[in-house]
Amino acid sequence: MTLHMDFYMAKTFQKACSICGRTYPAQEFSYGNKDNRSYCRACDKAEKSAYSAGGTEAARQFREQQRAKWQSKV
Ligand SMILES: [Zn+2]
Repeated sequence: MTLHMDFYMAKTFQKACSICGRTYPAQEFSYGNKDNRSYCRACDKAEKSAYSAGGTEAARQFREQQRAKWQSKV
């Protein structure tokens, strides 16, 4: 794969957030010190604030509640 193709794919690749279920361009999942996250920026931020408020269990509940919102509509 050429550098040009890597760039092209990074620009066009769409990925679903595993919390909100919305599809975003792959760049939306490249932030912080990691390149390929499962959550979009907004969900990562919201999950982190749930975590700082209530720890691991609160973060887990936040993810499950968000997923339940969109998975029940499918
Ligand atoms: Zn999301």
